Amino acid sequence: MDYLDTMHQHYYPNENVNTDSKTILYYGLHNQGATCYLNSVLQVFFMTKGFREAVESQEQDNVEQNTFDLQLKCLFETLKKKQAHTKDVTSKLGIEKVFEQGDAAEYFEKILSKVNPDVSKIFQGHLKHTATCSISNRHVNSDEVGPFWTVPLSMEDNNYYYSVRDGFENFFKSSTVSGDNQMYCDYCDGKTDAILACKMEHPPEILTLLLKRFEFDYRRMSYVKNDCCVDVPHTLRTKDCDYELYAVVDHVGSLRGGHYTAKIKSYQNHNWYVFDDSYVTQVCFLVN
Ligand SMILES: [Zn+2]
Repeated sequence: MDYLDTMHQHYYPNENVNTDSKTILYYGLHNQGATCYLNSVLQVFFMTKGFREAVESQEQDNVEQNTFDLQLKCLFETLKKKQAHTKDVTSKLGIEKVFEQGDAAEYFEKILSKVNPDVSKIFQGHLKHTATCSISNRHVNSDEVGPFWTVPLSMEDNNYYYSVRDGFENFFKSSTVSGDNQMYCDYCDGKTDAILACKMEHPPEILTLLLKRFEFDYRRMSYVKNDCCVDVPHTLRTKDCDYELYAVVDHVGSLRGGHYTAKIKSYQNHNWYVFDDSYVTQVCFLVN
């Protein structure tokens, strides 16, 4: 059970990067201009055992067939042996402006929606959203189950410190809407206060948490990046199962520019690596 959380920084303050080339087993991805957001996400997919195996099991039915799965299969084959280029992947994703910074979370979801469902299912869970009238818990006015790839965690009102564990718990806390936001109750035949709740209907095998560092600031009328420190637990206990952290996609720098890298734990040798475009370095943790 693993989870990926995207876009956080300030997490490994004591890391010491080992540059001994003999210990490095993994290869980087060429940056076409500003495609670090894509490279980071592709390395997470490559380093996810179930995903990689599912991609590798995809067969080409005919020579004309050129699905995104086969593109990934080809990329993964190269990555096992040497540094790889991503031109075929960017063209398949419709990325023309390779010098423009993109959003890692957006492309994470885009890739999952393009591959065969047999390949992407490892990342998919289902959430159940309900709206219940506050008069009676039997007045359930909407009850919808929908698939998700990521659980978005709002970081609003957290300027200095953010706990992923608390944020994840808060995501599933119910809230009451009232006043102008009252909802129509079919049973009461009128507008009433409503209780909105979200439950994990089916937990994904791999849980992906999206830390929403980029939020709209209504005072400044623009997007701003929240740079606060984030506490990411190595084990996240949920009521369904425990998830062990194995990958983090970081964004360092400003909203408009900046740079993405990924820190990923190898399922093959259990070491952590930093994937920074062409460069892959093993991380040594200093234990006090
Ligand atoms: Zn009601």
